[in-house]
Amino acid sequence: MEVITTVNDLEIRIKELAGKTIGFVPTMGFLHDGHLSLVKAAKQENAVVIMSIFVNPLQFGPDEDFDLYPRDELRDSRIAEENGVTILFIPQVAEMYPNDFAINMQVENEQVNVLCGRSRIGHFDGVITVLTKLFNLVQPTNVYFGLKDAQQFAIVNTLIASLNFPIHLVGLPTVRESDGLAKSSRNVYLSETERVSAISLSKALKLGQQLLVDGMKNHAIIINEVSDYILNNTSATIDYIELLHYPSLTEITSPINGQVVLAVAVHFKKARLIDNIILQSNGAVIDRIN
Ligand code: AMP
Repeated sequence: MEVITTVNDLEIRIKELAGKTIGFVPTMGFLHDGHLSLVKAAKQENAVVIMSIFVNPLQFGPDEDFDLYPRDELRDSRIAEENGVTILFIPQVAEMYPNDFAINMQVENEQVNVLCGRSRIGHFDGVITVLTKLFNLVQPTNVYFGLKDAQQFAIVNTLIASLNFPIHLVGLPTVRESDGLAKSSRNVYLSETERVSAISLSKALKLGQQLLVDGMKNHAIIINEVSDYILNNTSATIDYIELLHYPSLTEITSPINGQVVLAVAVHFKKARLIDNIILQSNGAVIDRIN
């Protein structure tokens, strides 16, 4: 595996790879099995796998965990190599955002006014700005994202369509711990008791799914049940619980139909955790999108 840390070195390598299929997995590092599931698919479907590790300051609010975000480049490099990454790109903040950096991307549609976009103002603008840069640099054939970040996936889909990136987008299932907790680099912030009760997030989503399976069509009732379950089983405070059309992320105003996302975000003492489930209106799970 080759580790590249400068834009210039990456550009040289990308030119040399002309004609080969490139599978790209953008991450913020502190790798876990969720990231590695994306690498596995990229490896199966492309000649070359490029992973980026970049904790992107632009997508963190002033009161968020940019400085605290867990980082371990040595461990990540070893894991990436063991899992078949061809090129690991670890750019520096100063090179990605030099002092004269002057253009920011902005999400303009309704997809940004809900879920994490509502509680993390500017977050998705930061996400699409860095992805635009990374897509231009890496020039991937296929990009791989986790559906754990369902809103991010929906917005990246819009980014690729709006700016005509010649890139195929693949969304893969959320990888979970054996008790159901979605794997996340931020799980290290949980205390022991919080870690135990954090399984209530996935349990609550399953409860919501079961209601759809049982024929429930009223979204407010589903949200109430999910909310009660989380409040009764954790010490967390709820940031949001929403059930929206997917991937448009528009409100459900009539009996539920089509594809929907049931998404939750909660705050524990140090950790803000998100989880979701993408479903057909009959409760069938959608866990790969491409
Ligand atoms: P992050 O490093 O958190 O920015 O995540 C990088 C990529 O890994 C994103 O596409 C995430 O959606 C994906 N990812 C993170 N956690 C998981 C998980 N538990 N299962 C599947 N994909 C994940």
